[in-house]
Amino acid sequence: MTIRAVHHPDVALHHPEAFFKRGQMVPMPELPRRASAAVELLTARGAALELAPDYGPAPRGAVHTPELLRYLETAHARWTARPGFSDIIIPNVFQGPGMSGYPTDILGLAGYHASDLSAPICAGTWAAVAAAANVAVHGARIVAETGEAVYAACRPPGHHASRDRIGGFCFLNNAAIAAQEMLPLLAAEGRRPRVAILDVDAHHGNGTQEIFWEREDVYFVSLHADPAEFYPYLAGFRGEVGEGRGRGFTRNYPLPVGTSEVDYLDALADALDLIHAYGPSALVVSLGFDAYEGDPYQGLKVSTPGFSRLGGMIAALGVPTLLVQEGGYAIDDLQANLASFLDGFEGTTIKGNDKNA
Ligand SMILES: [Zn+2]
Repeated sequence: MTIRAVHHPDVALHHPEAFFKRGQMVPMPELPRRASAAVELLTARGAALELAPDYGPAPRGAVHTPELLRYLETAHARWTARPGFSDIIIPNVFQGPGMSGYPTDILGLAGYHASDLSAPICAGTWAAVAAAANVAVHGARIVAETGEAVYAACRPPGHHASRDRIGGFCFLNNAAIAAQEMLPLLAAEGRRPRVAILDVDAHHGNGTQEIFWEREDVYFVSLHADPAEFYPYLAGFRGEVGEGRGRGFTRNYPLPVGTSEVDYLDALADALDLIHAYGPSALVVSLGFDAYEGDPYQGLKVSTPGFSRLGGMIAALGVPTLLVQEGGYAIDDLQANLASFLDGFEGTTIKGNDKNA
């Protein structure tokens, strides 16, 4: 099996130079090169590469609030129209308890719609995040309609973006938008409208968790460095399992910072057993490569060959799969890590199935 791939050049238009971290502005590691490197690799491997069309506002509106979408689309123009404002939006007010009003001023909006200071908005941000969402949607449609595996070259990443808030380099939740897009398509194909999202990024996918918190038709499972000592610090603990109809349909595997590859893959095997038991008709993988031992964030210790194991184990589920690019900041090693993952993913023979899928 050779994977299909979806991309769009506009994802490069988001290019803030810095973000606020540990009390100071530091260089932004989430760079356009992260997507172009992946596209180059897939091209070199002979993957069928498709340009995502524009699906308009409906798919992102099925996941995010109208307020957030209106804000993101207009924010930079409103911000830069004000005298003395910089070319980049980083909020300086936040909503606290008892502050229930929806703001009208751009300064209030910037704080209201952010969960932290690490999602700076620049002139090209809206075009880039809309393109990334289209990449995810196009990939989702192929997976749901054909059962083929697809890699979606999304960036900026999405899994920290909740219904109403941006954060952690994320603006629109590409994986969530993809899962939501798949559900009616699967039903139309006569398949059970159930999707699992497996988040293997080193950071907890707090945005995805929030979006599907009370849902039983999207099962969210995340492996990540323990939020007791790692971003996002405020979500991703083991006791978070969803609520209401969604109770039991969110599962978290917080792993101690520095967890070895062997222990990581053990946890992954456990997570994959849960997904198998859920019986989804499609799988969305929030594919971050920052669990890599050489990643600057140093959360987990997966080696380059280890990503091949990861890919093989995921493919062995035998579920139509969309791979959505999330984090991973060791940019010089990104192609090697993605190549290793795809070697394992594409080379896996599914048990009990004679097609080499
Ligand atoms: Zn991450």
